[in-house]
Formats: sequence, C-alpha cells, structure tokens
Amino acid sequence: MRLATAALLAVAAFGLNACSRSDEAGKGSATRAVDSFAARMAQADAESQNWLTHGRTYAEERFSPLTEINADTLARLQLAWSYDLDTDRGQEATPLVVDGVMFTTSAWSKVQAFDAVTGKLLWQFDPKVPGTAAAKACCDVVNRGAAYWDGKVYVGTIDGRLIALDAKSGAQVWSTLTVDPANKNTITGAPRIVKGKVVIGNGGGELGVRGYVSAYDAATGEKVWRFYTVPGEPGRPDGEISDEPLQRFAAGSWKGEWWKQSVGGGGGGTVWDSMAYDPELDLLYIGTGNGSLQSRAARSPGGGDNLFIASILALRPDTGEYVWHYQQTPGDQWDYTSTQHMILTTLKLEGVARKVLLQAPKNGYFYVIDRATGKLISAQPYIPLNWSEGIDLATGRPNIKQAARYDETGEQWIGMPSQVGGHNWQPMSLSATTGLVYIPIQEVPGIFKVDSAFKMRPQGMNLGLELQTLELPDDPKVRAEALKIPKGFLIAWDPVAQREVWRAPNPGWVNGGVLSTAGNLVFQGDADGMFNAHDARNGKVLWSFDGQSGILAAPISYAVNGKQYVSVVVGFGGAVALVGGEAMWGKQGPRRNKSRVLTFALDGSAPALPPLDTLAQIPWNPPAAVGDAKTIQQGRMFYLNTCAPCHGGNVKSAGVIRDLRHSGAIASKEAFYAIVGEGALTERGMVSFKENYDAQEIEAIRAFIVSVARRDAARGER
Ligand code: CA
Repeated sequence: MRLATAALLAVAAFGLNACSRSDEAGKGSATRAVDSFAARMAQADAESQNWLTHGRTYAEERFSPLTEINADTLARLQLAWSYDLDTDRGQEATPLVVDGVMFTTSAWSKVQAFDAVTGKLLWQFDPKVPGTAAAKACCDVVNRGAAYWDGKVYVGTIDGRLIALDAKSGAQVWSTLTVDPANKNTITGAPRIVKGKVVIGNGGGELGVRGYVSAYDAATGEKVWRFYTVPGEPGRPDGEISDEPLQRFAAGSWKGEWWKQSVGGGGGGTVWDSMAYDPELDLLYIGTGNGSLQSRAARSPGGGDNLFIASILALRPDTGEYVWHYQQTPGDQWDYTSTQHMILTTLKLEGVARKVLLQAPKNGYFYVIDRATGKLISAQPYIPLNWSEGIDLATGRPNIKQAARYDETGEQWIGMPSQVGGHNWQPMSLSATTGLVYIPIQEVPGIFKVDSAFKMRPQGMNLGLELQTLELPDDPKVRAEALKIPKGFLIAWDPVAQREVWRAPNPGWVNGGVLSTAGNLVFQGDADGMFNAHDARNGKVLWSFDGQSGILAAPISYAVNGKQYVSVVVGFGGAVALVGGEAMWGKQGPRRNKSRVLTFALDGSAPALPPLDTLAQIPWNPPAAVGDAKTIQQGRMFYLNTCAPCHGGNVKSAGVIRDLRHSGAIASKEAFYAIVGEGALTERGMVSFKENYDAQEIEAIRAFIVSVARRDAARGER
C-alpha cells in the first residue's frame, strides 16, 4: 500500500546520397543549395565546433568530439556567460550552434539568437502564443528546441504553428499552421530537417487527439506530406500517404469508436519528440506516443494492439512512404510512449557490424533494433519493471502480465514504471569514446485503475483513469515515506552486453538530459539545480556548478575560434514538475524558478550568479472555511481532473506556477469565479474552465482549495 500511495507522483552518417555532384550541374540553383546544405548536415559530425541539429547529428548521438575540457582541465571550467530568459516557465531546449551563433528556444515557443562567445542577445523572436494555448498543453508551455537549415531557423509553437525565421535578423520568413485549431494538438518538440523538408509532429495524447507527422518545404512552408499514425473513421481515408499502411496493418487492431474522441479523430500515437535519420538507408525514424485515452477499455473497448501507438516507424523522408514499423508496447494502457530519444549507430554484435537503432522508451526496456528492417535484436530492462516478463525476440512482443491489463481485471494495478516512464524526453547520449549510452532514468511506481464513471470533458486531460493517483496521502508521515520511494539515476549502459555499467544517484528523481564528450566527461543537470560533470568511465562527479533552479534540458558543447564551450538551459517545469508539487521541492524546499542560459569555458570570467530570491516567508492567514464535506470532496475530484496537472497534486506547487493555497483569490467567491469561470488571467495561460464546470462546481473547487490551505496552515506548513 505504501507503494501505492507513493505512486502518485506518477502521472503525474553517413554515406549521403544527396551530395552535390558534377553531374547535377544542370539542376536549378535552389536545388543545388539544398543539396549543398544537405551534404553539410549529413556530415555534421565532422564539424566538431558546431551543433547543427537537435541531437548534433542526424544519428542523434549527442556526443561532442571536443577534448579541451577534460578531467585534467576541468578545475578551470568556469562560467563564461549567462543570460536571464524572460520567462520562468519550464525550459527543455537543446540549443544549436552554427558558426559562432547559438539559437535556442524557451517557454511559450520563443526563439533566441546569441553570440556564442559573449552571450550577447542578437535577436529574440516571440510568436505571441495566446494564453489559451497553454490549456491545451498536457505538460507546460515548454519547447525542446529549434532546427537550422541553410540560413533559416525553424520553430514549432505551442499553438501548432511551424515558423521559419531569417537566421541573421530573426524576422519571420513564413508561418504555417500544422494543426486544426479546433483540436488540442500542440508542438513542443524540435523540428528535424531532411533533404530540405521540415518534419514536425505534435503532442496532445493526454487530451484525446490523433497523432500525425508532417513535412513542409523548408523554403516555402508548403506541406509536402503527412503521415497519420493511427486510423481515422473506418471507410473515410485521409487522402494521405498513411492511408495504405493504416488500412493494411492498423485498421484491424482497433475496436470501438476511438475516432470520435476529439475533433479530427482520437487514438493518440502522437509524434511529440524523437526522430532520427539515416542518409545511407534514406530512412526517417519517428517514435509514437501512448494510446489516447490512456485506458484501453475507454479507447478501444475489447482490446487490440492499436497500431501504430507506442511504436517506431521508418518512413521515406521525400514522400512519407511507410517502410517498416515496430510496436514496442502493443495495446499500451500505461502511457508507455516510444517517443523517447533514438540513437543510430553501428554495433559489432557476434562479430558482425550491424546498423542499429538504440532506444530506452518509457516502458523500461533498452532496445537494440536493426534499423534497416525494424527487426528486434535485443531488449533488456534498464529499470526493475513489473508489467511484462521479457520481450520475445522472435516476435518482438513483450510477455505482458495479466495483472498489468487492469482494464481486463477491473482491479487497481501498481505498476513499474509509472506514466512518467523509466526514461522520459530527457535526451540520453552515446559516447564514441567509451561506447556507452548515458541514460537519465527514474524508478517511479504508478497506480492504474479504470475510472468506471469516466466521461470526456471538453477541457483539460482525458485519461479514462481514476485520478486519485495524482495526490499524495494527507498524513504528513505517510507522505514523507511515500516521497522516499521514487528514485532517479544517471546510468551508463553497455548496448552490446545489454547491461548497466555504473549508476550515479540524482537528488529528486527528475533528471536532466545528457551530453557526453571526447574529454571522457558526461554533463547533466539535476532537479536541485546542480550542473555536474561525471567521469564517463565510472560516474564519479568531478565538477559541479549551482545553477540555482532545476535543470531538465540537455547540455551541448561547441567551439568558437578553437575554444571549447559547454552550455545548458536552466529552468524547472514540464509535466512532472507541475503535477509533482511537493515531491519536486528538493533539498532546499520550494524556491523560485529562474530560467537562464549558462555557458562555461576554461578560465571563463563571468561574474557569479546573483543570489536567488528566496520565496518570502509570508504570514499565512487562510480564508474562512467554505462548503460542507460533500462539496469539498466534489471539488477535490474536479481539482484532480483539471487543476492538478498544472497547479500540483495536494494543491502544492513546485514553484513554477502559483501555489493556490496562497492565492488571494481563494478568499472571494467572486474573485475566484472571475479567474476560473470568466478567464480573467487568460493571457497568462489560466483560461476559463466554464466549458467544464458551472458556477456551483467552480465554488466547490474553491471550497476544496480553502480546506487544504486551512489544514496545511494549521499544521504549520509553509
Ligand atoms: Ca503521454
């Protein structure tokens, strides 16, 4: 049971075929320019000074060949420059560096360009995402990075636009809408650009959407192709390249009326983060998200694999044509997405060099896949998991335990991993020096139970699960015990032997993304704000810097004029930080979230960061009690359904978004309704929830928040 109570934390290349050749001289100049930049991207690894694409190269290793910063010189590694971002919501971006200019993104889909040596802001682009878009985001208004192609910078926005900017001026060149605004799709992932086509997917799996990935002409923004990852309404093809494979493989794997879940269809399978490209095979790899609704009983009553959710797909980048698929979690009902970071490499396996794809998706297994065919080579658990007993190498299918099929048993099931996964979006890294993969992992159990009274709500998340899992137990002692259960580690994994080589514990369990370097170092930030350099061979922490706020984003390394730099975007936020509330406070308790870009170099001479404002110890006089016990309980369920994903379980904020227990608005029925009912704070992302709740129900939410504030104040909590 203790495991159960804790679980709440839980929901919470090469070989180029496009190089310029003399026999292509007859082509138009535009085509030649594309080919020429395509050649540069395909050989991005040779540009050790640059970080040209999200994972540095199309293979996405996130390994820097630079060696100036290493174990011997590390003592001289100092802050070279820092830049305070103008938003303190969650930061998840990997910066790019192209010939001395850094391009990065921040919350609300903003883009910045910096002089990579001095940190001088060259320009900032604000797409002016409307506050209403925030209510469509499951997981904060984050953005994981930009793409660069031939003089332009590309960003996807929370409200679903794909925008091209002039890299020199930041001026908008084109903008195209990639989503139906009537739906709840968002973009948080970084675009990838292959052969002059900008490829972008979207998020929304927790809100009932249908997943797809699209390609746009990098020069004009015109749509080239779209691939839907799950079927739409039977008998109504989309007229897209995905129609045939969806009919051939996927249609028979769904039951019920999943397409009615949302405007534009439901089912999930969103392509919200990871992609990779092999120029030699000319294959684009995409990872798809969980089924939506999360409960299969609600999504596809009667079961089924529900292709292509929780899968890897290989597509032709020119046309979106299907080549192969591999579904990792058939009939997913645990939010086990396959959208986690994919790395392409060549491994010598039983004496034979194999072109493989490496992935540690949420479901807890580390996969080595033949990337030419999609055939599974090996899979081993990288965390202790309990939903399955191994993967059948002949079929590639997991041996799923019956208890984990909570929709079939009707029972509550305590699963490992939880919905946050054994590894989430935080990128891993493959070192060309050690041959090891460095993975930010988390061991967090979760509770799964079908909500038999579930009904779709127009706003907020729709999971089909009982929502008490978003809360910690009220009893402070039980809660303290529960908070000890989730654990996070940086691990080094040998992908050939399929075994862990070392692990380093992280405070809090939410890890940052990872960078490895030829200096035999592994850089990673943690939830307490420490930015650490580990010895790549044994995990020992060799160097640390206090970044003051939680670090989730992955670092990069680059060089200008021969000098090496390491850079990371600091700032807490994202799904787990928002819903996790108290579980995210870390060793120093709740503190203000401060978002910055930090850049380090040997003998860096930037001034020290100013001391962080601490959260004031304000006198806490919660308002008079509102409502009877029944009303408070009703308000609690509404809060869990709609408010907790942003404002935190148990009405405790992690410091990114306002702690409602301290909000002045809870003292007044009218003030509270003005915000929750009428949308007075829409601009900041707090929209009206009138579609979900009437005035009495909104007052019940206030009654619940007041009851928690009064209880916590009486306990002497801060
Ligand atoms: Ca999900």
